[in-house]
Amino acid sequence: FIIPEFQEFSKDIELIYWRCKENTNGTVASYIPQLKRMNPNYWGVSIVTIDGQRYSIGDVNIPFTIQSCSKPLSYGIALDLLGADVVHQYVGQEPSGRNFNELILDHNKKPHNPMINAGAIIICSMLKTMYSPEMSSAEKFDFTMNFFERLAGREDLGFNNAVFLSERECADRNYALGFYMREHKCFPENSKFRECMDFYFQCCSLEVNCDLVAVMAATLANGGICPISEEKVLKPESVRDVLSLMHSCGMYDYSGQFAFKVGLPAKSGVSGAMLVVVPNVMGMCLYSPPLDPLGNSCRGVQFCEELVEKFNFHRYDNL
Ligand code: GLU
Repeated sequence: FIIPEFQEFSKDIELIYWRCKENTNGTVASYIPQLKRMNPNYWGVSIVTIDGQRYSIGDVNIPFTIQSCSKPLSYGIALDLLGADVVHQYVGQEPSGRNFNELILDHNKKPHNPMINAGAIIICSMLKTMYSPEMSSAEKFDFTMNFFERLAGREDLGFNNAVFLSERECADRNYALGFYMREHKCFPENSKFRECMDFYFQCCSLEVNCDLVAVMAATLANGGICPISEEKVLKPESVRDVLSLMHSCGMYDYSGQFAFKVGLPAKSGVSGAMLVVVPNVMGMCLYSPPLDPLGNSCRGVQFCEELVEKFNFHRYDNL
């Protein structure tokens, strides 16, 4: 086993879990009513090792929308289907140093990276327009959802239509980003603007739970092979690129500090989820809706900081 004393390990995780539960900082995202209604007390931790050992505690079966945790996954799918050279003609690899939805492009007039909204909108447009363009919107949605499900060990994902409709309704900034990028010819040729934006909102509105996202994280930790289904879902070279950019850009404007303090690739989203990868060891999902001012789950961040205090999971711990 990759973690030989798994029982003991689970006990330590449980202790950290209870300490984080006492953390009542942060506020639940309120830009759409469906997120605002989420219970701030929800707190779940789910762990899946690359050899399939599992530990879950707390609210691990509560459904939530995947939101920005979809970004590294769509990026990975695009890399796999189109190749890194093609993908990076359209989107960069540099932290933006600015808000996730800031109206800004890099010096080449491309989105800075696939982990912020601008980059993720372009990744979705590439999936929609450049890979099998003959697929209808419905077919492309099914195809992509199926890919996400394979990352999660062939479990069924849901789709939250109310969140999708609200996202689309309250998306002035995302549309502004879209138009700004259209002005600068960021979209692949033949992109249909509305369809691409909708596809981005749909990817954010996929419904998951803590256990499912932990399996997705474990698939990344395992180089693209799902440890539960043993299916090869992504190529290792795609996963390498995904983890690199999660490491530098995955935690909004806390990414640099998170990389320094925790040293693990992670991606957070407004619903309060964090997808965290310990490469070659395990995947984790931490779920708790209250967010800090930078948009990361308060309990999730505390959990990671305590985790690397206890275990040598920081990327540069083993020097
Ligand atoms: N649907 C959200 C948006 O595009 C996702 C934001 C997030 O999770 O960071 O604004």
